[in-house]
Amino acid sequence: MSYCEVLHEKEIKKSRKPHRCSWCGQEIPVGSTYREFANVYEGEFQCNVFHQECWDACDRSAVECDGDGEYYPYYNHRGLTEREWEAQQQEAVPA
Ligand SMILES: [Zn+2]
Repeated sequence: MSYCEVLHEKEIKKSRKPHRCSWCGQEIPVGSTYREFANVYEGEFQCNVFHQECWDACDRSAVECDGDGEYYPYYNHRGLTEREWEAQQQEAVPA
């Protein structure tokens, strides 16, 4: 059984050093706004950072999968949930 305790979640207005987004794996450049999310998962401390738009996507994704909030780190599309990305791909290909 997994156990997840949220320690803090905050918005950081200006990053002082580059980070890697836990959602899309792309760099969060110095000076940009991002979200930091720290939790304890199965006894291990984790600190995740997100682009603002990826944080929003993660939120929407949690709703899509009944709020369990699980995702594969670094394998997502920037600012998009899996479903939104799939929908975009279908639009891009003419029927
Ligand atoms: Zn991102």
